Amino acid sequence: MKTVVINITTEYDKALMEAKRLINDGEVVGIPTETVYGLAANALNEDAVKKIFVAKGRPSDNPLIVHIAKVEDLEPLVAEIPEKVKIMADKFWPNALTMIMKKSEKISDVVSGNLDTVAVRIPKNDYARAIIEACGCPLAAPSANLSGSPSPTNAKYVYDDMNGRIPLIIDGGNCEIGVESTVISFAEEPPRLLRPGGVTLEEMTELIGEIVVDDAVLNKLDEGAVASSPGMKYKHYAPSADITIIKSDFETFKSLCESEENVTALCFDGESENLSCPSVTYGNKNDGYSQSARLFDALRELDEMGAHKVYARCPKTKGMGLAVYNRLIRAAGFKIKVI
Ligand code: AMP
Ligand code: MG
Repeated sequence: MKTVVINITTEYDKALMEAKRLINDGEVVGIPTETVYGLAANALNEDAVKKIFVAKGRPSDNPLIVHIAKVEDLEPLVAEIPEKVKIMADKFWPNALTMIMKKSEKISDVVSGNLDTVAVRIPKNDYARAIIEACGCPLAAPSANLSGSPSPTNAKYVYDDMNGRIPLIIDGGNCEIGVESTVISFAEEPPRLLRPGGVTLEEMTELIGEIVVDDAVLNKLDEGAVASSPGMKYKHYAPSADITIIKSDFETFKSLCESEENVTALCFDGESENLSCPSVTYGNKNDGYSQSARLFDALRELDEMGAHKVYARCPKTKGMGLAVYNRLIRAAGFKIKVI
């Protein structure tokens, strides 16, 4: 299959028309969002959704997020809308926030990975919402990477993974946030944070009170444990390089990197100049948003450099830092050294 790329920033009408034509035809299209690029198909067409799993090589028990363009489109997809979801939607949608609820009969088991719940989000990215509107149906869309590799934050990385596997990629430039959406379940009380992302735990707690943080957000799941969010049990975001997170100050980090052979450093902005080993930076030390915008690109750059052994600086776990830390510990296979 030939994969065509259309730039929506320069060919808006053509991009919308082609995305609409292919998605209404039951095909899968790569689309930009503010979090990461998505692989989108008509969420109400089972055969189309199955093609997403094939294109990604995604295990079929890992459910997909359903993307809608406006709040009114939520009701048909869920059994009921909990009061707290209405409050959250009012304040945060459209944004990098995915809310899980009991599903309606419209959502097939293919979308929900056989669960009785569905995950829904309204993206903030204007192009993403325009594409959903044009298609006239909710779009099931996981991240547009091959299963297991870092999520793509630009159209080139989608092309690298999906060339020959999907007919169309819509190029909308770089993703602003750079890591996937926050996933929070309202199918239980108190609500449970399953994945930290662009809307922070602190912001949500301030609005709706107690939120349980699932164990898998910060820790490795025990062998055989049942994951609240199936995606959390799979290896994720992993470059080929072997990453270890180093919890220390910069001077200790520098000594470690320079005392061993063949180390590549994954460090913060401004630190490369003080290291004699090769390095890649992933944002400002004190700014989780600049780290999230860079992290997945940095992981892909490590691979492009042919890095084997990587020592990574450790982000803070407050605010947006929690989402960054959650992705980095998975990329590092949970290897953390405290010095
Ligand atoms: P991705 O589409 O790659 O951003 O991944 C979506 C994430 O949301 C995965 O970790 C899924 O396991 C999780 N997810 C989606 N739907 C549900 C659901 N109904 N219940 C629990 N987790 C879900
Ligand atoms: Mg993903």
